[in-house]
Amino acid sequence: MENQRGHVLVVAYPAQGHINPLLQFAKRLASKGLKATLATTHYTVKSVQATTVGVEPISDGFDEGGFKQAPSVEAYLQSFEQVGSRTLANIIVKYKNSATPVNCIVYDSLLSWAIDVARQFDIYGALMFTNSASVCSIYWQIHQGVFTLPVKQETEAVSLPGLLPLGFSDLPSFVAQPANHPAYLAAILEKWEILNEIDWVFCNSVEELESELVKTMLGHWPLKMVGPLVPSAYLDQQIEGDSAYGASLWKSTSDQYTKWLDGKPENSVIYVSFGSMADIASKQVEEIARGLKASNRPFIWVARDTENKVSPSNLGDSGLVVSWCNQLEVLAHRSVGCYVTHCGWNSTLEGLSLGVPMVGVPQWSDQPSNAKFIEDLWKVGVRVKKNEEGIVTGEELNKCIEEVIDGEKSEEIKRNSAKWREFAKKSVSVGGSSDGNINEFIEKILSREG
Ligand code: UDP
Repeated sequence: MENQRGHVLVVAYPAQGHINPLLQFAKRLASKGLKATLATTHYTVKSVQATTVGVEPISDGFDEGGFKQAPSVEAYLQSFEQVGSRTLANIIVKYKNSATPVNCIVYDSLLSWAIDVARQFDIYGALMFTNSASVCSIYWQIHQGVFTLPVKQETEAVSLPGLLPLGFSDLPSFVAQPANHPAYLAAILEKWEILNEIDWVFCNSVEELESELVKTMLGHWPLKMVGPLVPSAYLDQQIEGDSAYGASLWKSTSDQYTKWLDGKPENSVIYVSFGSMADIASKQVEEIARGLKASNRPFIWVARDTENKVSPSNLGDSGLVVSWCNQLEVLAHRSVGCYVTHCGWNSTLEGLSLGVPMVGVPQWSDQPSNAKFIEDLWKVGVRVKKNEEGIVTGEELNKCIEEVIDGEKSEEIKRNSAKWREFAKKSVSVGGSSDGNINEFIEKILSREG
């Protein structure tokens, strides 16, 4: 029987931190000759610009505004499962008798129902973790019953295979405070049993970053690291046209920041961002402003809709506040020397891949664990301490910035940042571990008999 040409349907949850790596994965497949199509919701496909990748809408049942229209997280996820399964199946049917029938679904770990659609059509199914494999292993250990929730706050440390001992405040918030986000936790804990039988478990990470964990998971998950899923131009590779993620859900109010950065000395600027989801309380915003002013260094702060919460008198005149930016462009800029981050997984990986020392200010979800790894595993930065009210004071932020830029540990932090940058670059270059994993996947897809 003649080999089919591979067509991989990549299904993304409609949030910035999910679309970015999944679209990038689809682009990698396309750059290696496979047909790849990204499926995401009606109201997000409009933002996707991808000439090499096809784009198809699916429905979460809230086609006008998505999540914001839903009465609750639970209702949203339920509706997405029902309507999403149906509309995803329609795409497969649409291509069934074409020259390029879909023969694999790669789905976002928050959309575990997509595996049932793959099974329905007897095509390959692959899961993509958009968190680190380490954090996913914590959720898996809960599913396995290795430790049970709730974890007691006074617990000294949780010891899990392949991970550093994790204190209460290092655990993902869904684990430390399971009652706060039950619907997300339930969605995350769903369908882990399929890891024994699924064709691939991909992770947007680099083998060397999580080497102990990867060893531990051998035999449990068919885990393949395929990251960093960052546009190759930023990792010094020359894949034409691959210099942006290509799906910005926010627009920058100005692109003046590049010019502003151009005028600053090398490694002098602090870049501050809390990603696309975290909602920072006004009091915290004021403290961040005070800390940045006290640092007496130039800074660029992505404030999204928190701009209005910052009093200009607290900001001083050495900073630039923008509503959104091309984060990779900023991190890659020669004048940026420190990244104050919320430690979202994409942002953490971007900081590591571009070699920028970090100050971790975690908010929720997997961010506390990522902050722990930044400080104690990869040693590329420090993590702030919060006060009794759960606030990071301006003094604390300023102290951490100083520590990363000029403090005792700063030389080691800079050396490590440069080291991980090289690992990240190598892994996606020809002959690298992530590149090899992607090639193996493509070979298998192309060799399946039609
Ligand atoms: N990002 C961006 N511009 C900004 C802020 C963030 O392009 O001004 C991107 C960033 O590069 C990353 C994503 O948004 O790829 C955020 O994902 P992450 O997992 O770090 O955090 P989340 O937004 O999911 O909390």
